[in-house]
Amino acid sequence: MQSLTTPPLSDTRASAADLADLLHHLDGRGYKAYNELHNTEGFVFGEPFPFRLHVDHVQADPFAPPSRLRICIQRAVTGLPTHLLDDPVCCVGLCHGIAEAVATAMDLVGGSGDRPMLQIDRPGQQILRRSCIQITDDEVSIHFSARLPAAGRRILGHKAIDLLCEDLPGVVASGLVYRNLDAHRLASLCTSVADAEALRAQLSQQGLAAFVADGSRLPRATGASDEPMAADIVAWQSPETLSVELNLADGRPITGTGFRQGVTVIVGGGFHGKSTLLDALRLGIYAHVPGDGRERVVCDSTAVAIRAEDGRRVSGVDLSPFIGALPHDQSPSHFISDDASGSTSQAAAIVEAVEQSCQLLLIDEDTAATNFMIRDHCMRQLISDDREPITPFIDRVRQLAASGISTILISGGSSDYLGVADTVIAMDNYQPSDVTTRAHELVVPSQQGPTDPWPPGQRRIPRRGSINPQRGKRTSSVRARGLREIHVGQDELDLTALSQLVHCSQTRALAQALAYAHEHLIDGERDVVEICAAIAVKVDEEGLGILTPDRGHPDVAQFRHVELAASLNRLRSLQIVSEPGVSA
Ligand code: ADP
Ligand code: MG
Repeated sequence: MQSLTTPPLSDTRASAADLADLLHHLDGRGYKAYNELHNTEGFVFGEPFPFRLHVDHVQADPFAPPSRLRICIQRAVTGLPTHLLDDPVCCVGLCHGIAEAVATAMDLVGGSGDRPMLQIDRPGQQILRRSCIQITDDEVSIHFSARLPAAGRRILGHKAIDLLCEDLPGVVASGLVYRNLDAHRLASLCTSVADAEALRAQLSQQGLAAFVADGSRLPRATGASDEPMAADIVAWQSPETLSVELNLADGRPITGTGFRQGVTVIVGGGFHGKSTLLDALRLGIYAHVPGDGRERVVCDSTAVAIRAEDGRRVSGVDLSPFIGALPHDQSPSHFISDDASGSTSQAAAIVEAVEQSCQLLLIDEDTAATNFMIRDHCMRQLISDDREPITPFIDRVRQLAASGISTILISGGSSDYLGVADTVIAMDNYQPSDVTTRAHELVVPSQQGPTDPWPPGQRRIPRRGSINPQRGKRTSSVRARGLREIHVGQDELDLTALSQLVHCSQTRALAQALAYAHEHLIDGERDVVEICAAIAVKVDEEGLGILTPDRGHPDVAQFRHVELAASLNRLRSLQIVSEPGVSA
């Protein structure tokens, strides 16, 4: 029979041998006894690659979300090049590469497909700053999950010894030690991040809203996969008239299509690659992994993909640029709906994006509300303006452009937008051509709608009492489920329309940011812009970790204040006031 008394850990540094000893004594005990692994100093593993293992959180039982562990290793032991670690841009690529390598090494440890024994936050096609790898002046630390082994609810101590004392050092050797890593892959990840940043930084200097380099490969493997299409890809080749030259991070020039600021309309027959282009542009806010095909596709970092989203909640948004008198004396300047229509939801999305200083709107006809986008000549005669509350987007798009907010939109089915476009690009067999001149021969360019500057928005101040993160006995329960769902207390937040979210860790970060906002910032005084900006600044200055103190250390990844605002704005319970001080 196992002894139930565990040997005391030496109060300073326990070794890997102490850990093995402890696990040996835990064998056969109830699962909760794993809590004895908590040891603030961590367990020190020795040669050949010394590191410290910390157990930050022990899962409640074998079926609960896995335990959270952390490995800290001296920079010098990893041999990772200092010039990459110390360059804030390259470091993002380097950390992505380490996370990939650690994930691959952990896959080999065993467990079953959806229940791996060890798991790190696996990155996707976009290179994001993540909490799972952290670099300090002298250490590299990785945060990961482990399923601590059990049979029923009894601890399998010897399996845990295999996992933590045998497998983990192997993961460290193959995932964290530079000479065992693919140096070429790491370097090209760093280059990808640096190039994307360099290209994006040149956009506004050149009067551009977006750029697609020649040779880019935009289509994806399937509608459900973000991986590149395997074969038969038509690579991007810019029409000469739209071709511009930008410089990569190392100064080398490259050519591609410059999407000029203003209004760009993409036309073309069905299935000719229009949506594929816009999809690539909307993710041009991120850097992509080498081989993705979109490494040199960039757009303005504030770009927002806008779509109709009927059924969404809208709280106190000034829709008056788009919506006139509404039934039941509803005020369009403080529009509230629990069940917005296609058109009002799209109008709200635009006003909310402008509120967040967005400078590029991306709209695909496939997901837009037609009655919001256009109202044709005959319809204007049949239904007079005073009986139609909607001012269509076409009447506002030039006003937005004049205020520095560009639009790239797809309009394959109607010629209306040709008249308000600065540039018209036709997609034909996945190849772009510049048809602006021809389009303007067919439709006289017009300055439709008002020309005065876009009105400054009202302040939108969330009422503190309207957000309740309480759920059951927990005073603060804010959690993400997958990529597009967040629960704030009883409120289920649907983020399906946030098509620029690409990784579950971003959604987890948004959930944590909402909890943080509720705890520290939503006070009946600050407005939505101030709240989201304050969090963005805090994360920038102190890292993503500030979002997750004592919250079980979930994996989080970088997100924009735009998506944070979009999440807050969709909370079903949210109430907005325009004057500070109403905090009940
Ligand atoms: P549209 O929006 O014009 O109707 P899509 O962008 O949806 O067309 O593209 C239709 C199909 O063509 C998709 O299956 C897409 O993967 C494929 N496709 C798009 N661009 C390319 C390309 N450059 N090379 C090969 N196939 C492509
Ligand atoms: Mg389409």
